[in-house]
Amino acid sequence: MAVNFKQLCNKCKKNYVVTNYKSTYVICYDCQKEDLKKEIKDPKMKKLFDLPEEWYKESSFLRSVKLYYLKFGTITEKQLEYFKKAVDKMKEKS
Ligand SMILES: [Zn+2]
Repeated sequence: MAVNFKQLCNKCKKNYVVTNYKSTYVICYDCQKEDLKKEIKDPKMKKLFDLPEEWYKESSFLRSVKLYYLKFGTITEKQLEYFKKAVDKMKEKS
């Protein structure tokens, strides 16, 4: 079982973010909400990132990959691989 860490959001310092890896910088869903809403033009990527909002709320990893894509317009093979795995896990849970 993965260990979940609870860390205080680095931006608002109000909300806690649950991560399963220790990272030095975490941002909560509320702080990233607006950025996550940005439009994706590539239909293939749009489909990939078209997930229930709840999942993005729950997973800082899913958020981080989407935000990376929105910022750089691309993601690495590894990110894609882990993203798909994370999505499968969410599917199993729901
Ligand atoms: Zn925050």
